[in-house]
Amino acid sequence: MSTMRFEKVEKTYINGVQAVYDFSMEVKDGEFIVLVGPSGCGKSTTLRMVAGLEEITSGDLFIDDKRVNNIAPKDRDIAMVFQNYALYSHMTVYHNMAFSLVLRKEDSDLIHERVMWAADILGLTPYLNRKPQYLSGGQRQRVALGRAIVRNPKIFLLDEPLSNLDAKLRSTMRKELKELHHRLSTTMIYVTHDQIEALTLADRIVLMKDGLVQQIATPYDIYYDPVNLFVANFIGTPPMNIFTLRLSETGELEVFDNKIDISGHPVYPTLRKGGYFGKDIVIGVRPENIKVSRASSGAIGLPSVADVYELLGHDALLHFNIGNNSVVAKTAERDEIQTNEPIVYTFETEHIYFFDKETEARIYGDK
Ligand code: ADP
Repeated sequence: MSTMRFEKVEKTYINGVQAVYDFSMEVKDGEFIVLVGPSGCGKSTTLRMVAGLEEITSGDLFIDDKRVNNIAPKDRDIAMVFQNYALYSHMTVYHNMAFSLVLRKEDSDLIHERVMWAADILGLTPYLNRKPQYLSGGQRQRVALGRAIVRNPKIFLLDEPLSNLDAKLRSTMRKELKELHHRLSTTMIYVTHDQIEALTLADRIVLMKDGLVQQIATPYDIYYDPVNLFVANFIGTPPMNIFTLRLSETGELEVFDNKIDISGHPVYPTLRKGGYFGKDIVIGVRPENIKVSRASSGAIGLPSVADVYELLGHDALLHFNIGNNSVVAKTAERDEIQTNEPIVYTFETEHIYFFDKETEARIYGDK
């Protein structure tokens, strides 16, 4: 169990690439932190600096209030699970899990106790005498986790540990990881490019882009309260619909030939005071906040025509155009809406997000 503190941590590789800028945060004891962002945004570099596998170029890293910048990896009491967790194929599950403790010359009774404990937690007790090739993908992944947890480290670091698994297994392992975290209550830092993993696993998400932290927040807040266009667009499947519209001189949202009254929206006073009337503005609307109906139903809304209908099961996605923008809405309509069928749509006005066109920062209402 451990707390961590990053103070203005930066990393520049010797080839001059700056991978991480000004990374500052405090991690609480037992917290599950997920670093997420597109490939190359600096997630793994950050994790490797925690592990001690990469030197910190500037700034300070503290584990339990002790500065660890110059502490060797083996002395940091950290266990790491990688995407490519090569198990030792000639060793049984038992010996794979015991191996790191054997190398550390731990007492054999203690090793046995730890391996049996980890096997119990991970549901591996019946497989302890098997070799890895006789295990399923999920079982192998659990052995990789077992190798890390037998050491009972202060902190777990996990670098895309599920990305080699198929979609179904990934979702099972997500649940198992969450249960494991509940049982162990160990601080975990988890790296992924998959926003679903971030939303489902994290106590808090750190969303990065180009080496810069964009937002640190709970999954709920990052979904419902994104600080900028990048965060808004990165989190959510399908992503938030984003398009540029014009605010009229009198503060109505011009959706091509139509005008939407947004005077009840919390940001309306800010838009007025901030000089946004009469200018282009970027808006974001999540697919679940656009209501679509067949025009033939007599529902009220702005007109368009259906493009593609995709049934997901409980609900469906309907793609259509607003002006030149391709938009997707979630709908409970079970009967397939045919391509080119006339539809009407409405925005749930209170759920429209507004962003500054130049800075791409979210525009907030008066707090
Ligand atoms: P992510 O894990 O988010 O995909 P990385 O932390 O691996 O991103 O990489 C961040 C940036 O640092 C990228 O531009 C990458 O090319 C660069 N980088 C990573 N490792 C090295 C290295 N050993 N030497 C030089 N540049 C590197």
